[in-house]
Amino acid sequence: MATTQTGGCQCAKTAATTPTYPQQVTGMDILVRALKNVGIDTMYGLVGIPVTELAYIAQQRGIRFVGFRHEQQAGMAAATHGYLTGKPGVLLTVSSLGFMNGLTATANATVNCYPMIQISGSSVREPIDLDQGNYEALDQFNVAKGLAKAAYRVNRPQDIPTAVVRAYRAAISGRPGGVYLDVTETCLGAIMDGADADKLFFDAVDLCPAMPPATEAVTRAADMLAAAKRPAIIIGKGAAFARVEEQLKKLVDTTGIPYLPMSMGKGVLPDNGPLSALSCRSTIMQQADVVILAGARLNWLLSRGHGKWSPDTKFIQLDIEPTEIDCNRPIAAPVIGDLASSLDALIAAMSSRKMSMDQSWVPSLQAETKDKNSKFAARLADNAAAQPMNHWTALGAIKPIMAANPDVILVNEGANTLDDTRDTLDMTLPRHRVDCATWAIMGMGMGSAIGAAVATGKSVVAIEGDSAFGFSGMDFSTICRYGLPVTVVIFNNGGIYNGIGVNPAGTSDPAPTTLDIHARYDKLGEAFGATTYYVTTPADLSNALTEAIASRKPSLIDVQLGADSGKESGHIGFLNPAALEKFTV
Ligand code: ADP
Ligand code: MG
Repeated sequence: MATTQTGGCQCAKTAATTPTYPQQVTGMDILVRALKNVGIDTMYGLVGIPVTELAYIAQQRGIRFVGFRHEQQAGMAAATHGYLTGKPGVLLTVSSLGFMNGLTATANATVNCYPMIQISGSSVREPIDLDQGNYEALDQFNVAKGLAKAAYRVNRPQDIPTAVVRAYRAAISGRPGGVYLDVTETCLGAIMDGADADKLFFDAVDLCPAMPPATEAVTRAADMLAAAKRPAIIIGKGAAFARVEEQLKKLVDTTGIPYLPMSMGKGVLPDNGPLSALSCRSTIMQQADVVILAGARLNWLLSRGHGKWSPDTKFIQLDIEPTEIDCNRPIAAPVIGDLASSLDALIAAMSSRKMSMDQSWVPSLQAETKDKNSKFAARLADNAAAQPMNHWTALGAIKPIMAANPDVILVNEGANTLDDTRDTLDMTLPRHRVDCATWAIMGMGMGSAIGAAVATGKSVVAIEGDSAFGFSGMDFSTICRYGLPVTVVIFNNGGIYNGIGVNPAGTSDPAPTTLDIHARYDKLGEAFGATTYYVTTPADLSNALTEAIASRKPSLIDVQLGADSGKESGHIGFLNPAALEKFTV
């Protein structure tokens, strides 16, 4: 049996042959079997001491291993896998820095309620605990504790099956999140008698239990909804994750209540449906008297329930997490439970009640939608031929192509690239938009695109700001290595926000926001064998994207924008400290 410190994997050379000790198994064998037992079929990661052989064993036993260039991206892939499939995605990392790189994604998964499990090998415990300077020594378990939804350390191979089930349950049950599972090098390499190991495994019953709400909570919510004059539903990514599109459709169809999707809630119900109030966010905040929050939080993305919101709006919050309630604003009717059960119960309760909606509410929202949509179309038309292209020119070219390919999953990050793409591209299917989400982070693009393609087998288009792409660009090579149907579209305006920042010191150094307006990102794609395009006109962009999506091959489109396209911090510049304004361009 290979030891864990060799750095090279013997399993690779003996892949299909009989193990050296047929009656004996290692911690790694037990771990792979435990993962398969709970239905894990894919693992994202980056190997090295002490987990190289673990990845080989997983691959040998039928778990697909997707190897990355940076652990953070492998983690973003695992989180996206979890979000899109409803089963925890798995990330495998090495000790110390690899663990910490991956932990960024695990923390992000926790904030966004994505179910994932980061499994990391860790250095031998005893010298760590005595601070004796062992190889890659770090008390990973305690570092992870504060950032993950839950953290476990497993020191003995006998405990591995229990540890895996606990990690799985913690990741998926209640509010989903990122779970850390620390497996010590000693535990990975420990040898056990195979027959003894057999006895450790069990079939975990009901790994993701339904959690129906209390009847009184549903009655309270239904009474409030039936009495509402100007109700609305806000659809969050919790609803996308919970796969409740059928229930939401039924609720909307039977009550006639308009809906407003959050960014990743777009497409749960069609953005362009007759009751979509996508363009009426401010009106809903100011005028709605009862708002149902369906898997959406009153966090900063909804002004934490303050700002433009009317002080009179009452909320019905459907959520699985009881501590979410009242965290920013008092909630009149909390309904705690899994969304599918809660919506089923609410629909049943509404069937014996009559709505008392103002007759003018929906028509007024529909009139506003029509007006806003025509203004938006005029904006795209005004910019259609701009040279060099700006964000609107490029998006005007992309919009009809994405509309013609509704089953393509859209990954989106950047500042202006994020905001303008979200506003321009309608989604018509659930779970087809993955973006920087609650933390509004940069650097999720390649990982999420890979996770989406691997988890679903669908084509993916990632629309990336040039700065955003830079965080994860090297993992474009992973897209190529695995031959994934991913098209990466880079909006190059030469900078963070834009490329016209001026160095106030007047030296030859670029401004802090300046990147590379003349960079040829297509050459980067070429290095790894992708089909690449460099486009400067909307017609060329249109042809390139059509061809790239149809090919289902790794593709990269470098879209040349003007350096002056885009503004400081996109739509959220107001979040900057006021003093920053004097430096903005
Ligand atoms: P958005 O950014 O779209 O508003 P958030 O991530 O802020 O979405 O909110 C998602 C909410 O959905 C969280 O409060 C989370 O607890 C909740 N949630 C996640 N899964 C479920 C589920 N299965 N049932 C009910 N609520 C859920
Ligand atoms: Mg940019």
